[in-house]
Amino acid sequence: MCVLTGLGAPAVAQDADLPSLQMEGVEQITIEVDLDGAVDRLSRAVQFPTVSNQDRNDFDTKAFDDYHAFLAEAYPKVHASLKREVLGDPRPYSLLYTWEGKNPDLPPALFYAHQDVVPVPEDSLDQWDQEPFSGTVADGYIWGRGVLDDKNQIHGILEAAEMKLEEGWQPERTLYFVFGQDEEVGGPEGARYVADVLEQRGIERFAFVMDESAPLIPGVFPGIPDNTALIGIAQKGYISLELAMHGVGGHSSQPPEESNIGILAKAITKLEAAQFPYRIHEAVRHQYRYMGPELEEARQPMFAAVAFGKEGEMTDLEKEFIAEMATNQVTRAMLHTTIAVTMFNAGIKDNVLPPAATAVVNFRPMPGDTPDVIIEHVRKAIDDDRITITDISASTPATAVADPDGPGYKALEKTIRQIWGNDLIVAPFFVIGGSDSKHFQARAFAPDVYTITGIQLESMKEFAGFHGVNERIKVDEYGKTIGFFYQIMSNLDDL
Ligand SMILES: [Zn+2]
Repeated sequence: MCVLTGLGAPAVAQDADLPSLQMEGVEQITIEVDLDGAVDRLSRAVQFPTVSNQDRNDFDTKAFDDYHAFLAEAYPKVHASLKREVLGDPRPYSLLYTWEGKNPDLPPALFYAHQDVVPVPEDSLDQWDQEPFSGTVADGYIWGRGVLDDKNQIHGILEAAEMKLEEGWQPERTLYFVFGQDEEVGGPEGARYVADVLEQRGIERFAFVMDESAPLIPGVFPGIPDNTALIGIAQKGYISLELAMHGVGGHSSQPPEESNIGILAKAITKLEAAQFPYRIHEAVRHQYRYMGPELEEARQPMFAAVAFGKEGEMTDLEKEFIAEMATNQVTRAMLHTTIAVTMFNAGIKDNVLPPAATAVVNFRPMPGDTPDVIIEHVRKAIDDDRITITDISASTPATAVADPDGPGYKALEKTIRQIWGNDLIVAPFFVIGGSDSKHFQARAFAPDVYTITGIQLESMKEFAGFHGVNERIKVDEYGKTIGFFYQIMSNLDDL
């Protein structure tokens, strides 16, 4: 509890005590798993190069087909007892498993994970201590592309289900497992299509949807060194715009006053100078209601002001918070729609003026910043009619905010504490990146999507393997991942 000292906002200060919201009284348990077998199966899974390339024509159908065949062989009980469908449009490589519950009147739950992995750039190969697609098990780790993002979750779910079936267990509510095929490129063929199919089947509301995001790591949230389990409750949106300058080219011996490249470069400079304003998202307020009480006493007034601040008002303490968060690029991204210039193309020869120049800018929108709002913002910022602006992405809006006080969140926190104990902070958070489960969360039938990667990492250094080199997880921690999924399936019976 904190005593507010009247710094800044008195209206907030009166009712803004920050009591701890950490769940108490949960006992840690141990789930026995067949770790050797499970590690072998995850190691083999990594060996299927189910890569998502930016060029969608470069798609390895054999890798996905072989991976599906392997799953059927590795998890015989799942494949004998659950209904399995292969879906996706135009390419069907996503998997939908349906595990009928005992009580068809209960709203179902859904576990989401993705099969695809990011490519391994050729020039990074020599930095890997183990071959990225070898699935090597060495030095207490399982190594390889996808072992942390996101085959660990697929296999954690399937190992848990296989164990439950072995025990003759059946869920109370129907459980769906959805394993997408193209998360790393936004999920237009997989997650979006499966969400369409489930919507058409008349599911009114999922009681619980879970997908990946941050693993448990000490220091995962900037400025907080404690071991923390962050549960994503909302995701930003996604849109990419192409800015193009089409003019005349020519010989470099007689250049015009302004080149196409120069015009476009000026526009980009103006756009980067016109940042979207900062504001505090509802999910950030929820985050500080949970996280604030666990942080330093002296800063509690500021966290309380954020936790209980009102939309459309901005107190001095909230301004202080924003100023502090804006100094770090991770936390700054929580505060506004981000602008990232990711591609710039023009020219083919040193003495030829190119007739065109193009750039791509990727935005991660806050709620309310629709494609129309963003395009208008860009148009005004660059203030140059010669430049065309085209939406080139399968854009998605920022999602709804999952209930951080609801039974789904509580089931997750309880399970986290059962598996990893109580020496950690559990808090909801606003996901600045996001995954293709947003195709579910953007719809009325799945407002409560919670995202967390169910594995403990030792340090932020290990997190660098996520899309980077030396992706690896600890063998023993993978055992706990399986225990986590095993336990949450049971806990979902009591929602
Ligand atoms: Zn992922």
